Amino acid sequence: RGVHWVEPTEVCEVEVADWTRDGVVRQAVFLDLQNDIPASKVVRQQPVPIKPLPAKTTPRGKARSAQVSGLEISHPERVIDSVSGVQKVELAQYYEDIAPWILPHLKQRPVALLRAPEGIGEEQFFQKHADRLDIPHIKQLDPRLDPGHAALMEIDSGQSLVSAAQMGTVELHTWAATHDRIETPDLFVLDLDPDPSLPWSAMIEATRLTLSVLDELGLQAFLKTSGGKGMHIIVPLARSEGWDITKAFAKAISLFMTRQMPQRITATMGPKNRVGKIFVDYLRNARGASTVSAYSVRARPGLPVSVPIARAELDGLRNAQQWDIYTALERARNLGADPWEGYNHRQRITARMWEQLDAQKPGE
Ligand code: ATP
Ligand code: MN
Repeated sequence: RGVHWVEPTEVCEVEVADWTRDGVVRQAVFLDLQNDIPASKVVRQQPVPIKPLPAKTTPRGKARSAQVSGLEISHPERVIDSVSGVQKVELAQYYEDIAPWILPHLKQRPVALLRAPEGIGEEQFFQKHADRLDIPHIKQLDPRLDPGHAALMEIDSGQSLVSAAQMGTVELHTWAATHDRIETPDLFVLDLDPDPSLPWSAMIEATRLTLSVLDELGLQAFLKTSGGKGMHIIVPLARSEGWDITKAFAKAISLFMTRQMPQRITATMGPKNRVGKIFVDYLRNARGASTVSAYSVRARPGLPVSVPIARAELDGLRNAQQWDIYTALERARNLGADPWEGYNHRQRITARMWEQLDAQKPGE
């Protein structure tokens, strides 16, 4: 919609995070012009699939029915991740079991689904709207929330979670606002993305640095592993500001940290800008953007889970993929106290905070 296509004449090398279903690149970073290849010779290269592991026939010795939460699971024995050997029915079972812990994080929030119906090694779809297919039990939100699109979705029950898993959903990503007050985010996220060459200790250090900046500002923050490579820092808000100001504030924090520690932190996206550094990504805080939910599974080898942790647990963390669907559930069941104890929506972004960050509030 609204895209103007042109005939390609130049050829350049870019690094991309991903390809969309429609063959468009995501998060492209320009690397170089390639003058030795004519544009007409450029084709999309396809990876050759590696030989999949044979499917397990008797999962963990237990007999499994293909019903979860009263819903029929099709292809229950389909292995959706060849590293862990986890089957589709086990993923659906995880979402049923984790429902009491994940639902509070999904409540009232527009949700986007990362679906990998044939398994995480096959094609994936990132679905933000209730188009393309109808997921039974998933709530459709008022279409006026996102004009020009099909309705946004909300998952508000164990059944809709299982139903999403039945439709091949692996990951659940939520907005930073609830649908009742969609224009004023009730949190912002700082997503810490390391240069892959850095040791895990650098991630712990960057997380600590971010927390101390937030402490200095007087903002309470909460941590979770991304289930991928880094950490997500969540700052709850009182919903007094709109998207642009909230995002500008998150950006001001990232820029402030970059000025303080230019060797270790960057506020600029792209692998080239991040060499030896950690990117403090504030871009999740735009209207329509989303971040993987706490307790969501990740579509990565081993099916790690994004897990909320207490600040006191940070130093003992081994990596961002410390928990999988079995250990995350076990941890949730055995947790004495909520790792996010004290989470509240009373915090406001104040004039003093902008000043402390040496930043200008937009429009002032
Ligand atoms: P890591 O720790 O590995 O950085 P992450 O969750 O922080 O994990 P990504 O998995 O790269 O980072 O997700 C980036 C964000 O981009 C997601 O939260 C989601 O909102 C968005 N996203 C992911 N996949 C797609 C997609 N196919 N199309 C559009 N947006 C996507
Ligand atoms: Mn990240």
